[in-house]
Amino acid sequence: MEQDLAELHDEATALLTTITDAAELERFRIDFLGRNGRISAIMRRLPLVSKEDKPRLGKLANDTKRKVEQAYRSRQQELAAAAEVSSQPSPDLSLPGRQPVFGSLHPITRVMEEICTVFSSMGFSIAEGPDIEYDHYNFAALNIPEHHPARDMHDTFYINDSILLRTHTSPMQARIMEARQPPLRVIAPGKVYRCDSDITHTPMFHQVEGFLVDERVSFADLKGVLALFTRQVFKKDLPLRFRPSFFPFTEPSAEVDIACVICEGAGCRVCKRTGWLEILGSGMIDPEVFAMVGYDSERYSGFAFGLGVERIAMLKYGIDDIRLFYENDLRFLNQF
Ligand SMILES: [Zn+2]
Repeated sequence: MEQDLAELHDEATALLTTITDAAELERFRIDFLGRNGRISAIMRRLPLVSKEDKPRLGKLANDTKRKVEQAYRSRQQELAAAAEVSSQPSPDLSLPGRQPVFGSLHPITRVMEEICTVFSSMGFSIAEGPDIEYDHYNFAALNIPEHHPARDMHDTFYINDSILLRTHTSPMQARIMEARQPPLRVIAPGKVYRCDSDITHTPMFHQVEGFLVDERVSFADLKGVLALFTRQVFKKDLPLRFRPSFFPFTEPSAEVDIACVICEGAGCRVCKRTGWLEILGSGMIDPEVFAMVGYDSERYSGFAFGLGVERIAMLKYGIDDIRLFYENDLRFLNQF
């Protein structure tokens, strides 16, 4: 009987591992564990064994039955778990995938990068300065002393008496010249701030300041650099025009116009029938500015220019309201 129980246990556990569906499992249960099953059949032989063997064999029979029941239940759970997994719908791999939505660079970022690329190709290095600037670098170091009338040209956001939001990127001229010696060829792109808002002004906008200092730099070099720049950015060979102007940190100073990118000089609404568009301010760096940073103005000369990135972007893409850049309307931004 001991032998029979051991064999039955081994046979039952071996058989269970081969069972893969519920019907087979139920047959197993009836066959081994049912009232008329094989374990019950062995147990019915207990009354026939000798009195001294009975307790031991009785316990052995019960243990065997319990072990087979345990193996049966764990197999039942395994099959149930497998059935649950397979009942979930499998993905249809032939369906088209979901298209990710791609963003794009903001038009101002694109134009800014393009401007930097053009000047980099001419050997200019790129320097970025702080948006929150000392009054000193924004004005005094650029030959704009306190109470100078030129300060009225800038409606400034002051933080306190000596700190402000920079009104132009020109402070980088003073910062870089203070720290380095000529020859210098640098552009400084960045955000600038003025209390101003209408269809051609926003309180925050972008400028690129550029300057070059070396021996024997002349106005002709300035013209050459700007001509190359406009040709690269507008992809057209547009005539340039210099108009005398005034900036405290350059002498002489000039506003630079290009022939209208729309009508090429014939006159249209964009250029207000003049055929010309103002694109930047420029000039030869004032010897006073050199004196403040300790450069010898007898030996060195240089030019500087500052251009508005929004202005260039508006002309390049034919946009007539500067505020469109900052409304974040996707219908506008998706066009770039
Ligand atoms: Zn025009």
